[in-house]
Amino acid sequence: MPLRIFGVLPLSLEPFLATLSDCLHLAESVKSAKSADIIFDVISISRKLTMLAAIWAAAILLGGGAPVFAQAPGGGPGQNPPPPSFHIPHIGGSRQERPQPETPTEGQVYILLWFDTDDYILPQSDDAAKRLAVFLTQQGIPATFEVVGETARTLQQRQRQDVISALAQHEIGYHSNTHSQHPTVAEYESNLDWDSGVEEFSRRERPGFDDVAHVFRKAPVAYGQPGASWAPQAFPALEKWGVRVYLGEGKQVGLRGRPFWYGGLLNIFNTREGEQLRPDANWSNLDMAKARFQDTYLTLTSQKAGGVISLYFHPCEFVEKEFWDAVNFRDGANPPPDQWKLPALKTPEETEKAFQYFEDLVHFMKSFPRVQFLTASGATERFRDHATMHVFSTQEVGAIAGQVDSEVTFQAGESLNLSASEVFYVINKYLAGIVQRNASEPIVLQRVLYGPPAPLAPLTAKLVVPWGQVARTILDVQDEVDRTGRIPTAIWLAGQNVPPESYLVGIAQATQILMQKAELPDTVTFGPARLAAADYVAEDSPDLWDWVIFPHGFHAPKLMSLAKLQAWTLKPASK
Ligand SMILES: [Zn+2]
Repeated sequence: MPLRIFGVLPLSLEPFLATLSDCLHLAESVKSAKSADIIFDVISISRKLTMLAAIWAAAILLGGGAPVFAQAPGGGPGQNPPPPSFHIPHIGGSRQERPQPETPTEGQVYILLWFDTDDYILPQSDDAAKRLAVFLTQQGIPATFEVVGETARTLQQRQRQDVISALAQHEIGYHSNTHSQHPTVAEYESNLDWDSGVEEFSRRERPGFDDVAHVFRKAPVAYGQPGASWAPQAFPALEKWGVRVYLGEGKQVGLRGRPFWYGGLLNIFNTREGEQLRPDANWSNLDMAKARFQDTYLTLTSQKAGGVISLYFHPCEFVEKEFWDAVNFRDGANPPPDQWKLPALKTPEETEKAFQYFEDLVHFMKSFPRVQFLTASGATERFRDHATMHVFSTQEVGAIAGQVDSEVTFQAGESLNLSASEVFYVINKYLAGIVQRNASEPIVLQRVLYGPPAPLAPLTAKLVVPWGQVARTILDVQDEVDRTGRIPTAIWLAGQNVPPESYLVGIAQATQILMQKAELPDTVTFGPARLAAADYVAEDSPDLWDWVIFPHGFHAPKLMSLAKLQAWTLKPASK
């Protein structure tokens, strides 16, 4: 689908709206007292509106310097499109030489180094975490340590204040309460609905979050799921706790490998570049990793926006031959603590080789001039959401409404991006202002508007609804989204429950008619529509949950169905 651009007007239309509100007031006064539908005396207000239409037309002719919104291509599979087909050649005789860019570039390469600090069984992994933290502190490189609640408690019990202090020099994130003990996050969420799932995540995970905050004396700013144990119900809970970033890896949701907003959090998730820099089983691919980094660096710096490399390590993988949790909790196994086994250790030489890989790679990446290391909170600064607290002008509402079609998805603008739920809010709030005759009330996105808690069958045929009913529904919907902070599952219109996608398309068209013809529509048509943004959320399958800790064959169709509904909150995160 081609990218569609819709320019709008620089002229303020507040006088127009004020007069339009007067017209609506007039119309209210002449409606039949016993009729369910508001009947407008169109003739009595048409002259006034004709004049206003002329003003509008003049404004169109004068238009320029306008905000521009482009709706994202709908229907794309999203999470795993092919990599860019162009090739950036190596510069210099050796892949390991520092590149000398031939032309100035604008792109920055932001590297997020983060550590799944999860092992609470093998004491040597504490020392590995400390060594990594101290090295990075000495290098002046900030990183993010995502710590498991049980690991924080264990560090305290082992009286490893030295480790705690070393990690606390960096940013602290949260990595679940008990990580691989069953039921893991996705296991206990897999059969819960939206509300009970959010509550259950809080019940099970909040104690560990508090313990990590207490032990490290700082609130975790990021969260990453244990293994592949991702769940959409985690997001509202985390957002409520003050977590701002979902920093992890997985395949459940993604936006072409770029940072994105989903579930109210900035997601650095489902990226590609960092995985290519990870060690192989023997930590013997350092030269290859450096070459790949150089390739990625040149690609990203050639782009105006630059890019992000999200690179993770586990402290425990520097000292143990096999993961501590695979030894104990593989395939659904759940032994009690007194039966936990220690994983096999690497030899001292193997451990040293692993640290050399890490330290050499970090030195190498640091030597590139456009590299900047970011923590999770640094990413929230760099990818600030410019839609939050923006006051939407009438012209912008018109542009946004003009981009809505039956493939409902996010909109990427020049200065800010909007999720489908934000598009929904902006348009409904605008129309609510018209109906209530207080159009001068600012339209501002003040908090996250989550997707609906449950699915509803799509419309199969068009539904034509008189404006009077639509007007009352607009107010009802506004009340509901303001009270609940989420898109309604079903919207009542003329005796029928309409899915929010179809409702959004209908009110967007009504907004366009209102702005283009300077008159309210007699009726609004609601037709079949779908949430195309949900294509960026993976389909459920056992392959999606490829973590050895899960019981064999685990998968979670209900959970992924809820995840797709939260694609209402999806949008790119741009600089
Ligand atoms: Zn982990």
